[in-house]
Amino acid sequence: MTTQVTIIGGGLAGTEAAWQIASRGIPVRLFEMRPTRGTEAHLTDRLAELVCSNSMGSTLPDRALGILKNEMLAMGSMVIQTAFEHALPAGSALAVSRDDFAQAITETIYGHPNIEVMRAEITAIPAGPTIVATGPLTSPDLTAQIQALTGQSYLYFYDAMAPIVTAESIDMSIAFRQSRYDRESDLGGDEGDYINCPLNKEEYEAFVHALLDAPKIELKAPDKELERYFEGCMPVEVLAGRGIQSLAFGPMRPIGLTDPRTGRRPYAVVQLRQDNIAATLYNMVGFQTNLRWGAQADVLRLIPGLQEAEFVRLGQMHRNTFINSPTLLNPTLQFRTRPDLFFAGQITGTEGYVGSTMGGLVAGINVGRLLTNQPLLELPPTSMMGALLHYITHAEPQNFQPMKANMGLLPDLRQRVRGKQQRYAAYAERAQTDHTAYLERMKFEPTVSAIKSPA
Ligand SMILES: Cc1cc2nc3c(=O)[nH]c(=O)nc-3n(C[C@H](O)[C@H](O)[C@H](O)COP(=O)(O)OP(=O)(O)OC[C@H]3O[C@@H](n4cnc5c(N)ncnc54)[C@H](O)[C@@H]3O)c2cc1C
Repeated sequence: MTTQVTIIGGGLAGTEAAWQIASRGIPVRLFEMRPTRGTEAHLTDRLAELVCSNSMGSTLPDRALGILKNEMLAMGSMVIQTAFEHALPAGSALAVSRDDFAQAITETIYGHPNIEVMRAEITAIPAGPTIVATGPLTSPDLTAQIQALTGQSYLYFYDAMAPIVTAESIDMSIAFRQSRYDRESDLGGDEGDYINCPLNKEEYEAFVHALLDAPKIELKAPDKELERYFEGCMPVEVLAGRGIQSLAFGPMRPIGLTDPRTGRRPYAVVQLRQDNIAATLYNMVGFQTNLRWGAQADVLRLIPGLQEAEFVRLGQMHRNTFINSPTLLNPTLQFRTRPDLFFAGQITGTEGYVGSTMGGLVAGINVGRLLTNQPLLELPPTSMMGALLHYITHAEPQNFQPMKANMGLLPDLRQRVRGKQQRYAAYAERAQTDHTAYLERMKFEPTVSAIKSPA
């Protein structure tokens, strides 16, 4: 009888891993604790629920997330394929209808004859081939077990999430649709994919002061930990505290936009991005916040166009749990002292939806190869997948923090290339060449035919 693989966590990494293993003919037991036990951020019992933004980042072939997604598609990523099948107009980004996306993955997993889904919390790591993919909100009991296994104090910090409003509650006599520089949507949108709420100087300054004065939710964590906010997901009120102009140069920057009422660039804008396929919900781009909920709605309603906003979700902060991968994992995602134990997803420090899914893809494929006596994949660091895996397994352990895919992870080019655009194109070309050559050399075959991204 073929050995069964246990996967703990039915999120992005866990479902991708389960599908990869099952599609190679190996039976999988996938444990997901929801709805028996919830997390601070998940709202449904669906597998692969997106807990915050509905964007999976750029589809451009010379951007970090574009390169990463293309490499994953070439390796047959079920999750990324499903995302493209449920894409919404979002300029050159891949935004998905979150409910349809999670529902489709849930059905794919439940429909697979080699996967058995168990709705239960796992509190101890089992024997036998196992993948831990319990994400940034790993349940406390399992967290304690992982801490005991790793023999280290557990690492965590805090992230924040953005509010979502109903489209019909946005005042479109003030707000206007436009993408920055009127960029056409790669996914077929014919008018601006974003809704922009314009602010003049007085409105902007009043808003920033209200943000700073509003009460915040106290977090039960040492100040030192809270100071380690993840730079890419900093709460707006923290950013605002860095100086009156910080937001106008950050998430509220008005560049590339013209207010049709004035014919001029607004002083600042709040951008909203479509969040579901019916276009009834919009999320506030870059507006993650930890203001108290009552006060939060009042402050956000100071934004012109959102005076009557109906919030279906308010912003909040959450725990972000991850292991010290540089001391614990190989680039194959194997636990160094137990080769049939793998970790995947955000818990390894691969930050973001796509990076987390990538871990599931690699761990799933590698478990399959381990059980069929094939050499495990260790992707070249010149590819985006390999670079991210290399980073989490070779970074300085003392200061290790989760990392998103980014161009800075790629090793320097052999020859100097002038101009950022040309340089990015050269990195992207090398990544694709090396990734393809490596997979050929390893005789790797995806279990589904690769699809092309629209970019
Ligand atoms: C609130 C929040 C907002 C985020 N916002 C974004 C964003 O906007 N964009 C972005 O790119 N990334 C975001 N991230 C980061 C990251 O991309 C997501 O958390 C992503 O879902 C991670 O994928 P994962 O598979 O590692 O974990 P998850 O998708 O969280 O999956 C882990 C699963 O394991 C289950 N689980 C946990 N413990 C147990 C247990 N003991 N037994 C059984 N099941 C268990 C959980 O219920 C969950 O379903 C956010 C994270 C959080 C927490």
